[in-house]
Amino acid sequence: MGLRAPRGTEDLLTEKYEQWIYLQHKAAEIFSRYGYTFIETPLFEQVDVFVHGIGESTDVVSKEMFRVLSPDAYRKVSEGEASKLKHDQKLALRPEGTASVVRAALEHNLIPQGSAPIKLMYAGQMFRAERQQRGRLRQFHQIGAECLGAPDAMADAEVIIMLMEFFEAIGLEPASLRLLINTLGDDECRPNYREMVKQYILDHADLLDEDCVRYAHTNPLRAFDSKNETCQKVMANAPLMKDYLCEDCRKHYEELRGYLDRAGVMYEEDQKLVRGLDYYTRTVFEVQVLDGLGAQNAIGGGGRYDKLIEISGGKPTPALGFAVGMERILLALEDQGKLPEFPRGNEIYVAFPDPAHKAKVFELVSTLRSHKFSVQTDYQERSLKSQLKLANKQNARFVIIVGEEELKEQSVTVKDMRSACDERIKIDELVNYLEQQA
Ligand code: AMP
Repeated sequence: MGLRAPRGTEDLLTEKYEQWIYLQHKAAEIFSRYGYTFIETPLFEQVDVFVHGIGESTDVVSKEMFRVLSPDAYRKVSEGEASKLKHDQKLALRPEGTASVVRAALEHNLIPQGSAPIKLMYAGQMFRAERQQRGRLRQFHQIGAECLGAPDAMADAEVIIMLMEFFEAIGLEPASLRLLINTLGDDECRPNYREMVKQYILDHADLLDEDCVRYAHTNPLRAFDSKNETCQKVMANAPLMKDYLCEDCRKHYEELRGYLDRAGVMYEEDQKLVRGLDYYTRTVFEVQVLDGLGAQNAIGGGGRYDKLIEISGGKPTPALGFAVGMERILLALEDQGKLPEFPRGNEIYVAFPDPAHKAKVFELVSTLRSHKFSVQTDYQERSLKSQLKLANKQNARFVIIVGEEELKEQSVTVKDMRSACDERIKIDELVNYLEQQA
């Protein structure tokens, strides 16, 4: 067998590529109304960007990061001298966008110091060394939005409303979506709660799997994310954050729900929603599709990360954001029969039975293209019949036939494929004629 794309990656062939561009355009159209502008960060960053931001104990950082080695770094690693790598030689493909956006915002002094928040959106490939499944790849595409410098619950509501507006705008059936929200508290109340969950895990260690017991010491809340059914049952009776929230976090969460209610956004509260990354504080949310995607039913999610900018070396700045996954969105749209279609734009096919007229055809095609028509022609000296067949297949609106008879009169035959009518048109008048038909 010949060479193949690496496991867990996909080539975006024409239609899928167009769908990806379409999703980006839709997001840009909607998010820009909320004040977002595009940012693009490198596909790889220093490992520290992710370790500080996402957290060492998370799966994303501890198990799923692809490392990037320069030739020099590769030599060191293959000679068993990985410990000699300098910080800027320890690189990884980005597993998500937030940590990179925060790094870039800090580097370029974009973080607002008390002034209006900065709102950034991005779209691009992310990389995680996961086991491939339907809707789970090792290279996938996300569209994300980050709002830096907004403490108010109104910002949380706005971000969620924008996300739901996006899903609706691209054609996902609102009734097919489930929006889950939760709060994870902050530095004031979470440490105490973490301690309670840790104790609960240790008290039930004989019923839980190794991972959950390990989380007790690294990040106890992650045990709520366990895929193991027994663990899920045990964790169902664990202490809940809502019973430990401090007054400010309780108020923030209540305000968020109030805004969502006012906006008529349907949501469910899910006390077990902790999400995989360490950096979240207070609000977290996830959007799932109800049918079709099985375990990979989360099409987007995010939350507030009020500590991340400080952890990354900036001044304390409240912030929040989300990311959606292109591949899962397209699967959901496909399941719902809502995939966008992009008719090919080959408006004109120029057919010619006699290769002797190639130069004339070349000239004609160039002229038409210079007048902004989309034009295809034959490059293989095929018969007129097969050229017409191809024009039909390409959905051409007009076929222009350049034949001996026509050229004698400085004309061509224009076949309107919709009405199936033929007309002889002088070459001089062709552009004018076609423009009038459009
Ligand atoms: P996360 O950054 O984990 O919050 O993921 C945000 C969204 O990205 C998810 O809701 C998915 O739609 C998508 N996503 C995350 N991981 C993958 C993956 N391995 N393959 C495909 N999509 C993914």
